[in-house]
Amino acid sequence: MREEAQKRVEKSLNHPVFHTIRDVSEEMSMPAYVIGGFVRDLYLNRPSKDIDVVVLGSGIELAEKVAKKLGGLRLTVFKNFGTAMLRYRDLEVEFVGARKESYQRNSRKPIVEDGTLEDDQNRRDFTINALALSLGNKNYGELLDPFNGIEDMENEIIRTPLEPGITFSDDPLRMMRAIRFATQLNFRIDETTFTGIKAQKDRIDIVSGERIADELNKIVMAERPSIGFKLLELTGLLDIIFPEFQAMKGVDKVDGRAHKDNFYHTLEVLDRIVPNTDNLWLRWSAILHDIAKPRTKRYDKKQGWTFHNHNFIGQKMIPKIFGRMKLPLNEKMKYVQKMVGLHMRPIVLSEDVVSDSAVRRLLFEAGDDIDDLMTLCEADITSKNETKVRRYMRNFKVVRQKLKEIEEKDHVRNFQPPVTGEIIMKTFNLQPCREIGDLKAIIKEAILDGEIGNNYDEAFELMLKKAEEMGLKRVK
Ligand code: ATP
Repeated sequence: MREEAQKRVEKSLNHPVFHTIRDVSEEMSMPAYVIGGFVRDLYLNRPSKDIDVVVLGSGIELAEKVAKKLGGLRLTVFKNFGTAMLRYRDLEVEFVGARKESYQRNSRKPIVEDGTLEDDQNRRDFTINALALSLGNKNYGELLDPFNGIEDMENEIIRTPLEPGITFSDDPLRMMRAIRFATQLNFRIDETTFTGIKAQKDRIDIVSGERIADELNKIVMAERPSIGFKLLELTGLLDIIFPEFQAMKGVDKVDGRAHKDNFYHTLEVLDRIVPNTDNLWLRWSAILHDIAKPRTKRYDKKQGWTFHNHNFIGQKMIPKIFGRMKLPLNEKMKYVQKMVGLHMRPIVLSEDVVSDSAVRRLLFEAGDDIDDLMTLCEADITSKNETKVRRYMRNFKVVRQKLKEIEEKDHVRNFQPPVTGEIIMKTFNLQPCREIGDLKAIIKEAILDGEIGNNYDEAFELMLKKAEEMGLKRVK
């Protein structure tokens, strides 16, 4: 690994942006280093475009000169943070002076002072994030790895450079970051570091919901998100940040009959949906599809375990969960609600003899999200019984085919009423009133039931007939 990584480092540092930083740093006698995530990703061969440069001196002053030398690039300066950022081709480079940080008990905001490179590396969260490459003339490309980050990378370990209790207490967001990196990189969390998270878990309370949500979303977007959720559960963090998910863990047994563990089932569904979608919200739908199962769980001798209406109750639980977890309360949430609410429907369709009108209704309710819904339902089949899985998959194929046929015929996926309220008002000379809504609903139901086709003529005719029954007089 090391030889190849060394070649990548050399190739990467051959970029004009690094040469310019080297020259300016030499001119100004301010040593500069590339540090953190970019260096880590270079060694791990994960392409990264975000470069952090730490400067022994003023990051802003050095950045100003670099920007000028690169042809008068625009520089974004954040005076309060002492940082400056420029874009060069596809790279984003951020400059900051080396700093030393100390923390107070009740805030994630440290007291910051100028520091040495070592001080700056000490404040980093994990050994693999504390690597620096020198941009000095004499030792260009030299690796400074005070905490054996390279070795941890080779052993695939996440470890804090300093005592984990202090590291996590100082900035509890690092607990989420540890689990996020373990998930993204498929690394283990070192035992002492893991114990540190368990001990400090309650400190997560001082971290803003938005920051926690950012990390959670990165876990959800990883290749195997289950790793992260299992770690969150094992450390005790899950119960604090997402108690509804924690509540899904465990199995009840009555009369020797047990239901499946919905926590592990959900994680399986989540991992299964990953190869089929990069849509964060479809992945969240997988996480939440059975969220109301603990709440709706009942046992009776005849039926065994049931979870009646868990889809509808789950749908209703979502706004509170999204609100607390600082996930968006907009159309993204509505989409997740829709997925959760509808997730039982295709399976019911696949079990029964599929009637056209049931398919039409599902198309109408799911609209453009019908394919996503099918993707969710296919991921939801986690039975260990292969014959059963094959049967369900075959049935879903039939449902998909039927959906296609009916949509081609009836176009109800993006249903627009063929007779509008305006037409009804003009035809009977009406002011806005309840009858208009009633007529529209009758027409819609008739189309969905297949009694009339989804077209103007048939809808108009039905409207006339029903209006007459209601005692409305045609004027046009
Ligand atoms: P990604 O880009 O995937 O989010 P990253 O580590 O590159 O990962 P940044 O959040 O940009 O992400 O962090 C850059 C570097 O800053 C990290 O590699 C680490 O050295 C340091 N860092 C970031 N957050 C913290 C923190 N909470 N505590 C200590 N060091 C941190």
